[in-house]
Amino acid sequence: MAKQEDVFKTIVAHAKEYGFVFQSSEIYDGLSAVYDYGQNGVELKNNIKRYWWEAMTMLNDNIVGIDSAIFMHPTIWKASGHVDAFNDPLIDNKDSKKRYRADVLIEDEIAKFDEKINKEVAKAAKRFGETFDEEMFRQTNPRVLEHTRKRDELHQRYSDAMNANDLSELKQIILDYEIVDPISGTRNWTDVRQFNLMFKTEMGSTADGAMEVYLRPETAQGIFVNYLNVQKTGRMRIPFGIAQIGKAFRNEIVARQFIFRMREFEQMEMQFFVRPGEELKWFDHWRQVRLRWHKALGLGDEKYRYHDHEKLAHYANAATDIEFQMPFGFKEVEGIHSRTNFDLSQHEKYSGKNIKYFDPELNESYVPYVIETSIGVDRMFLSVLCSCYEAQDLGNGDSRVVLHFPAPIAPVKCAVLPLVKKDGLPEKAREIQHRLRFDFTCQYDEKDSIGKRYRRQDAIGTPFCITVDHQTLEDGTVTLRERDSMDQRRVAIDNLEKILGEQVSLNSLLKKLV
Ligand code: ATP
Repeated sequence: MAKQEDVFKTIVAHAKEYGFVFQSSEIYDGLSAVYDYGQNGVELKNNIKRYWWEAMTMLNDNIVGIDSAIFMHPTIWKASGHVDAFNDPLIDNKDSKKRYRADVLIEDEIAKFDEKINKEVAKAAKRFGETFDEEMFRQTNPRVLEHTRKRDELHQRYSDAMNANDLSELKQIILDYEIVDPISGTRNWTDVRQFNLMFKTEMGSTADGAMEVYLRPETAQGIFVNYLNVQKTGRMRIPFGIAQIGKAFRNEIVARQFIFRMREFEQMEMQFFVRPGEELKWFDHWRQVRLRWHKALGLGDEKYRYHDHEKLAHYANAATDIEFQMPFGFKEVEGIHSRTNFDLSQHEKYSGKNIKYFDPELNESYVPYVIETSIGVDRMFLSVLCSCYEAQDLGNGDSRVVLHFPAPIAPVKCAVLPLVKKDGLPEKAREIQHRLRFDFTCQYDEKDSIGKRYRRQDAIGTPFCITVDHQTLEDGTVTLRERDSMDQRRVAIDNLEKILGEQVSLNSLLKKLV
C-alpha cells in the first residue's frame, strides 16, 4: 500500500492539475502558506460555505448572519487579549537559519516517548498473542514505566513553563533534552522569543497621523462588537446566535501541510449568546449539532473524533475540537468553545459602553455568556478532498482517479456530452445544457473519446454525465451515467431536472440535520 505521505502528495498534485488549488503568486515562485482556489476549487469551497451558512441561518430561527469588516478598531484586539497574548514561542537554529515553534519542538519530543511506549506494547502484543493484557503490561513493564515516568516529567516541566510564560525555561528544556534541529542536526539555538501572530498595517495617510491596524486573526470579534446592534435591530431574544464567514490572517511561524495551516484563510464562526449559568448545557448542544453536520456529508463516521481540551484558555470553561482523519493523522477542523462572558465584558470595559442585554423574562440585565463554533473553510475543504480522492483499479489494466464528492457540494453537477461531434448531436447536447444550466453547474464537452471525457469528469468529481447519441434525436432520451457506480441508464430529457434535482440539491443534505 502507498505510504500516507505519498498519497497526500498525489492529492496535492491532483488539486493543482484539476484546477482546485494553486500556490499563490506561483510565477514569482510562490508565497509561503498562501494559496489560491481555481475554477473547481472555488465551486467546492462556495458549496461548503453554503452548506454551513444555510444549516446555521435557515434551519435555526434564532440565528442570523452578518458580514463585518476585516479592519477593526485596534483597541478591539487589545480588549480581546490578542495584542498581548496571541503569541507563539519561537526559536531559531543559528546553523540552518530555520525558525521553529519551541512548544512544537518539545511536544514532538514528548511524542517520541509515546512512540517508544507504543512500540513496547506492540512488540509484547505480538509476543503474547491473544493472552496479552495491555493494561496490565502498561502498568507493570519496567521499560514502559521508565518511558512513562520520563514522559510525564517532561510534560510537567513543559506545562509549567507554558503556563508561567517562562521562555528561558522553554529554551532550557530544549537544551536539557538535547533536541536538535532536524535540518542542521545541531543544538546551536537562539533564545526563545514571543512572536505575535497578527499582521499589522497602517490606515490613513501619515500626514493625518496614520493608525496602526491589524488584519483580523479571527472573525469572532466582529460578531462580539455587533451583537447588540443585531439583537436590537433583529429583535433577537436570548438564546440567539450570529453567524459569519470571512477571511482571517495569522502570521504562522511554521506553515505546513498545504492548506491545513495558512497565513490567510477563511473561517465560518457562530457565536451563540446564552444566559449565564446555561452555557454548559448549550456547549453540549452545539458539540453534538456540529458533529451531526459533519457526519451528514457521509465521508465516514469513523473519520471524526472529539478532542476535549484539558488545558483551557483563560477565558474558556469548556472546549472541544472536532478532529478529522487527514492523511497525516487526526487533526483539528473545528473548535467549539464555551467562552464565558470574557469577550463581551472586555469590550464593555475597553469601550466604556454598556453592552448588557436586558432579559425581559428575568427582568434583569446581564452580559451574556457565549458558545462559539469555529471551523476553517480551508481545513474543511482539505478533509473533503482527501477523503473523497480515490485512485481506482478497474481491472484489466484500466484505472481511474475519482473524487467521490457528496453530490450537493460537488463543483460541477453534470456534464452533457455528445457521443460524436456530428449528425446534430452537439446541437442537441447544447440545447440540453442550456436548459439545465439554470438549475445546475453544468459543463459541455465534445473533445476526445467518450471514455476520456468520463475520466475527466470523474477526476473533478462530477456526479452525473449525460450522453447524447443518435437515439436521443429519435426518442428524446439520453444516457445518464453515475460517477461512483459508473452505471448507465436511459432517461427522458424531460425527467433530467427532477432526477438531478433530487440527488444534487443541498436540501437533501440539510434535511438530514433536522
Ligand atoms: P491550531 O491549533 O491548528 O493552530 P487553533 O486552535 O489556533 O488551530 P482556532 O483559533 O480555534 O484554531 O480557529 C478555529 C478554526 O480555524 C480551526 O479549527 C481551523 O479550522 C481554522 N484555522 C485556524 N488557524 C488556521 C490556519 N492557519 N490555516 C487554516 N485554518 C486555520
